[in-house]
Amino acid sequence: MIPENIIDDIRDRTDIVDVIGGVLDLKRAGRNFKANCPFHGEKTPSFMVSPEKQIYHCFGCGKGGNVYSFLMEYEGVGFVEAVKELAGPLNVEVDRYLTGSEDRSRFDPFYRAMEFAQMHFRKGLEESEEASGYLEKRGFGKELVETYRIGFAGPSWESLYKAATEAGIKKDALLEMGLIMRSRGSTGYRDYFRNRIMFPIRNLPGRVVGFAGRVMDNSEPKYLNSMENPIYHKGKILYGLDQTKDDIRKSRTALIVEGYVDHLMLWQSGITNISAVCGTSLTEDQARLLARYAKRIYIINDGDRAGVRAAVRAADQLVIEGLDTSIVILPETEDPDSFIRKEGVEALHKLMSSAPDYFNYLHGEANRGSRTSSRRRQVVEHLLATVSRVEDGVRRELLLQEVSGLFEIPVATLRSSLKPGRKRKPSAGQPVRHTVTKREENQKAMFRIALTSAALAALVTDNIIEEDLEGESYRKLLKVLDEAVEKGVDPAGPKFAGLISDPELSALFAEIALADPPPGPGREILHDIVLWIKKASLKAEMVEMKVRLRQLEEEDSDETSSERIGIVSAYIQIERELGKLEIKEDSQS
Ligand SMILES: [Zn+2]
Repeated sequence: MIPENIIDDIRDRTDIVDVIGGVLDLKRAGRNFKANCPFHGEKTPSFMVSPEKQIYHCFGCGKGGNVYSFLMEYEGVGFVEAVKELAGPLNVEVDRYLTGSEDRSRFDPFYRAMEFAQMHFRKGLEESEEASGYLEKRGFGKELVETYRIGFAGPSWESLYKAATEAGIKKDALLEMGLIMRSRGSTGYRDYFRNRIMFPIRNLPGRVVGFAGRVMDNSEPKYLNSMENPIYHKGKILYGLDQTKDDIRKSRTALIVEGYVDHLMLWQSGITNISAVCGTSLTEDQARLLARYAKRIYIINDGDRAGVRAAVRAADQLVIEGLDTSIVILPETEDPDSFIRKEGVEALHKLMSSAPDYFNYLHGEANRGSRTSSRRRQVVEHLLATVSRVEDGVRRELLLQEVSGLFEIPVATLRSSLKPGRKRKPSAGQPVRHTVTKREENQKAMFRIALTSAALAALVTDNIIEEDLEGESYRKLLKVLDEAVEKGVDPAGPKFAGLISDPELSALFAEIALADPPPGPGREILHDIVLWIKKASLKAEMVEMKVRLRQLEEEDSDETSSERIGIVSAYIQIERELGKLEIKEDSQS
């Protein structure tokens, strides 16, 4: 276990703006920073970061919290990983607190198995002249092999299985990761990958989650890939992005190819803002992932028909995510690898600079060959279906105008045949927001003002008790506020967020703290709100009492009469309290 004070210390010494600014385009917005939210698709920023409070919150999807929760959410890592990541640059040593026996995450054994396999395959490559000779002949340079940790699985049936189990890797983890399979052989298990060049597939934080294995001769299957497993979801990972994301971010541009080898060869030729979709068509998740780093995408697929079709599908997805998308067309018999081998990287750059953007490309396709009118119709229908899935109304309109200009069809006509925008189903990351009651609204406003100064926080904790609040999270937040007042922690400062560990509460806090305080004099407004909340809670209680009293009256028996008397007297008391409700004030304020 990492001690609390170390965790707090690392957080206190880290600036959330640096961390988030390292991966998102943060723009100044008054006291805060804003950016397009990385957790849901949007074109106008509702993701806010507060340097003063060291928190973030998205007003679109509700995600929020401190720097740790950001890293966990953004990189998909566990808490310990997030702490370690921030500890590194501060030269804080946290490994010594980790006994290794604690279950840091249930996925840990899987990562360990994959990591071991990668090292094993690396060794396999060093030991095989045949494999290293093959890579050399195919033009895989040393740096490339090193950077992408390319390895080799030898011909043995149980080389990995034996080495891994000897090293203490659990058989179940190897099975679950698809590294071994059951067999009737001596040990009962055998390696899944044999006699193949091994390409590790890594997730965004750079951990191995799967492998692609390629044969060196003409045997089949040419490629053998890891199945999906608990840490590998094909549709959410882009090959090599862990390696290239910084270059993509810097250039705001990414090249997308179809396979590992294309990716690797282009990378080696100096095109480092590149990534590959492997074995699937580009998914919504992948497009969104790209949108975090890039503005413009060049799709460079094989020149054959299948490649072109896949390019169109990918482009649809990218346009929906708001990315400028161009399609680079290779000669029909070429793939990116073979093309740069023959023509050189300059020729590819030239093709890219003259590549049509997606709509123009389709327009060109529609006008090619014969039967153009039916093709045009098909293409326009296809484009309208894509445009209808764009969430942002302004962008949808702009795209419509583009289609209108290209195909010379009035915008009004296009608009009328636009299918009603298919609503995206909220993904797991986008909680369906519930309607906010007046009471909740006031509770939020109350906390918002209380979080501006210690004196106003005290005004709330002096007057509001947990029972006055509706909703468990608000009651918890009141407790934290109480704690802050007691310990003298400034509710407006960066230390306050440190009192909160519950992620749900952390999100609520971030939402409140990043909202604008109601305009006007804080103390007076707070007075009114506190009064309102107390009244509302008392009234709500009275309503409940009335309901119960009515029930009791209907039953009207001796057993119920004592309860009735109790409620009536409590009711009268509340009524009296309500009548002389006033706010306690600190003498010094
Ligand atoms: Zn969001």
